[in-house]
Amino acid sequence: MAKDSSSTRVSLMESLSSELVSDDAGLYVHVPFCRSRCRYCDFVSYTDFSLVDEYFKALWREIELWTSLLPEVRVGSIYFGGGSPSDIPFELLEKTVDLIAKRFRLKSDIEFTVEVNPNCGFPVEKLKLLGVNRVSVGLQAADDSVLQRVRRRHTVSDFFKVFESAKSFAKVNVDFIVGLPGESDRTIDEDVCVVERLKPDHVSIYLLEIHEPDLNQPPCEEVEARYERFVESVQSIGYLRYEISNFALNGNLCRHNLKYWRNEDYIGLGIAAGGHLGRIRYVNTSKMVEYVSQIWKKEFAFEYFSENDELQELKESLFMGLRLREGISVERLRSLCPAFDLEVLFSDLLGELLQLEDGFLRLTEKGFDLSARVLADVIDRISSIAVGR
Ligand code: SF4
Repeated sequence: MAKDSSSTRVSLMESLSSELVSDDAGLYVHVPFCRSRCRYCDFVSYTDFSLVDEYFKALWREIELWTSLLPEVRVGSIYFGGGSPSDIPFELLEKTVDLIAKRFRLKSDIEFTVEVNPNCGFPVEKLKLLGVNRVSVGLQAADDSVLQRVRRRHTVSDFFKVFESAKSFAKVNVDFIVGLPGESDRTIDEDVCVVERLKPDHVSIYLLEIHEPDLNQPPCEEVEARYERFVESVQSIGYLRYEISNFALNGNLCRHNLKYWRNEDYIGLGIAAGGHLGRIRYVNTSKMVEYVSQIWKKEFAFEYFSENDELQELKESLFMGLRLREGISVERLRSLCPAFDLEVLFSDLLGELLQLEDGFLRLTEKGFDLSARVLADVIDRISSIAVGR
């Protein structure tokens, strides 16, 4: 729900255009189409491809809206996610990238990531023509029977082919999910073998968050134990766990996602995409008809839009920043909210679950393992300050 009326919103947007001169913003483009639905999916994605052309036309207009408002912003990373960008006709991706390059000021060392499925609808090498230098491949599990059970449309051997092609021109991330039906210790060992054998630059290991009785997921205790084993294995072969679910080899951290975790500036384009600029936080509508008709009227399609007060900004920065191994700088926390006394507020967590060291507040090893609980506790405490005001 939007917190601000549309007139407040307009004046905030105007002040944003004169005040915000971000030198290294991220740009996220949501491509909400997939040829079929995976059984566990809770992303905003449509299987009706008759909507694709209309959607892209609206997306191009949204690019124009943002670049008229913020002509000075320089973009340091682009991320095409979905959905499945690799299910879309290549020409539409090409036209979108051309327009972005024409309208936005792109930094010369830009990181440009595209998510692809292993059964990519076009030769993955074509992404090189767009300037893509990072490819994120959704393998999810290195076992065909697990993939079939969740209705992934690819096989493990499709993945190997795409991986080989992608690594010839780009850094490669591989996504895995733990907690899928049909998974066992053996299938997790297969996942680890793939990482050991291919040594991708980056690995993301997510825990399946949804719990649906029809899905026949393995019991929670088994899933947690397997997750831990998977994480330990990738760390033992040299990956740095720099975020709760993300692991980098040889310093290949994802620069785009770091902007989310550091609560920096990024613009989200497309349905259900969110952005954070200065202190403004917004999320676009996830309804296709509403998105297209709003943008066609030359208006943004926000479902949520708000200017964060200092406590909200602090809360977001802590919630995201503590997910990182580096934590969050105390100087930044104090600049966000000078009255905030973290030694007092977190006195009983410091030492065991939180650590203050070298000017950074971060989770301890134990805090990292119990991150969901600790993050919820931290946010509750900040909310209690807001209530007490
Ligand atoms: S590919 Fe991703 S977005 Fe598409 S249906 Fe599967 S999980 Fe959902």
